[in-house]
Amino acid sequence: MTDLLVRRHSVHGMPVESYVEELRDRLPEHDVRLARTPEEEREGIVDATAVTGTDIDESLLDRAEDLRLFAGMYAGYGHLPMDTLRERDVAVTTASGVHGPNVAEHAVASVLAFVREFPTAFDRQRDHEWRHFQGHELAGSTVTVVGLGAIGQGVVQRLKGFDVTTIGVRRHPDDGGPTDEVVGPDALHDALARTDYLVLACPLTDETRGLVDSEAFGTLPPEAVLVNVARGAVVDTDALVSALRSNEIRGAALDVTDPEPLPADHPLWGLSNVLVTPHNSGHTPNYFNRLADIVAENLQRVEETGRYEDLRN
Ligand code: NDP
Repeated sequence: MTDLLVRRHSVHGMPVESYVEELRDRLPEHDVRLARTPEEEREGIVDATAVTGTDIDESLLDRAEDLRLFAGMYAGYGHLPMDTLRERDVAVTTASGVHGPNVAEHAVASVLAFVREFPTAFDRQRDHEWRHFQGHELAGSTVTVVGLGAIGQGVVQRLKGFDVTTIGVRRHPDDGGPTDEVVGPDALHDALARTDYLVLACPLTDETRGLVDSEAFGTLPPEAVLVNVARGAVVDTDALVSALRSNEIRGAALDVTDPEPLPADHPLWGLSNVLVTPHNSGHTPNYFNRLADIVAENLQRVEETGRYEDLRN
């Protein structure tokens, strides 16, 4: 009997071996096994009581007679076969929160890079050119954060001390939040009109797909900067390219794009007012540490309670 089967040999290009070691440290009484190949997965899942991975498909589930828990390695669960998992009484947990610190830091770094015009500085340094340019000040500006979950709240916390006004946009504004103002999606455009830095930290859903479209770019002030650490398709890419080309906004820092990977000949690469990182903001050595904490705790909770329903944290 395998207590916990770890799927996939790497996550976002990071080798998963260190994750397995972190899990073994936290679960010394458990048999934690790594499946490196599809064959090892198909074999290992037959007697596994728990699986951790980025996803799981129906063909694997068909073989998983003893499975009680799927411990997801992503914050979201929309890509999982939830109906089948429910039918089979497999509890599902997510890794919501694992990306709070790293992605939030990346978002704040992106804001500051545009405040101090670092893209211009990098260009001039590369050309060995000692020529002044004008930066900006974050103090006194308004930062709007769409999505007040682990990442969005992490952004707002990190902005404290910068003397900014913050607006949070969330699905349930009545739940409040750490921002000076909290509004629902229906008040997005009112917020955009007052926004200097727009940080996207919401999931990609039917409601958020294309949320930042040509109308939104028209509403943002021309000095506004977009920071997207959510999902590329939350922004209408054609409208973004057009807004950047016509200086309808000042710039964009994109950790996520639509499409991904961004093709080598995509116009976003060539725009001087764009900073592109390849869906990279979560990649830090602490990622597997935090993930192992979450997954080990979820496994223990499922074992202690014997509950089979969803135990999303
Ligand atoms: P959480 O689930 O903790 O929070 C999501 C937030 O989004 C909630 O506050 C929710 O509002 C809000 N939200 C949902 N729908 C809408 C909407 N229609 N309009 C406005 N706000 C909305 O997620 P995380 O903070 O952990 O992550 C957020 C997203 O970031 C992930 O879904 C993922 O797409 C992306 N991500 C990107 C990474 C990267 O490497 N760049 C890494 C990890 C995640 P409410 O609470 O009111 O329901």
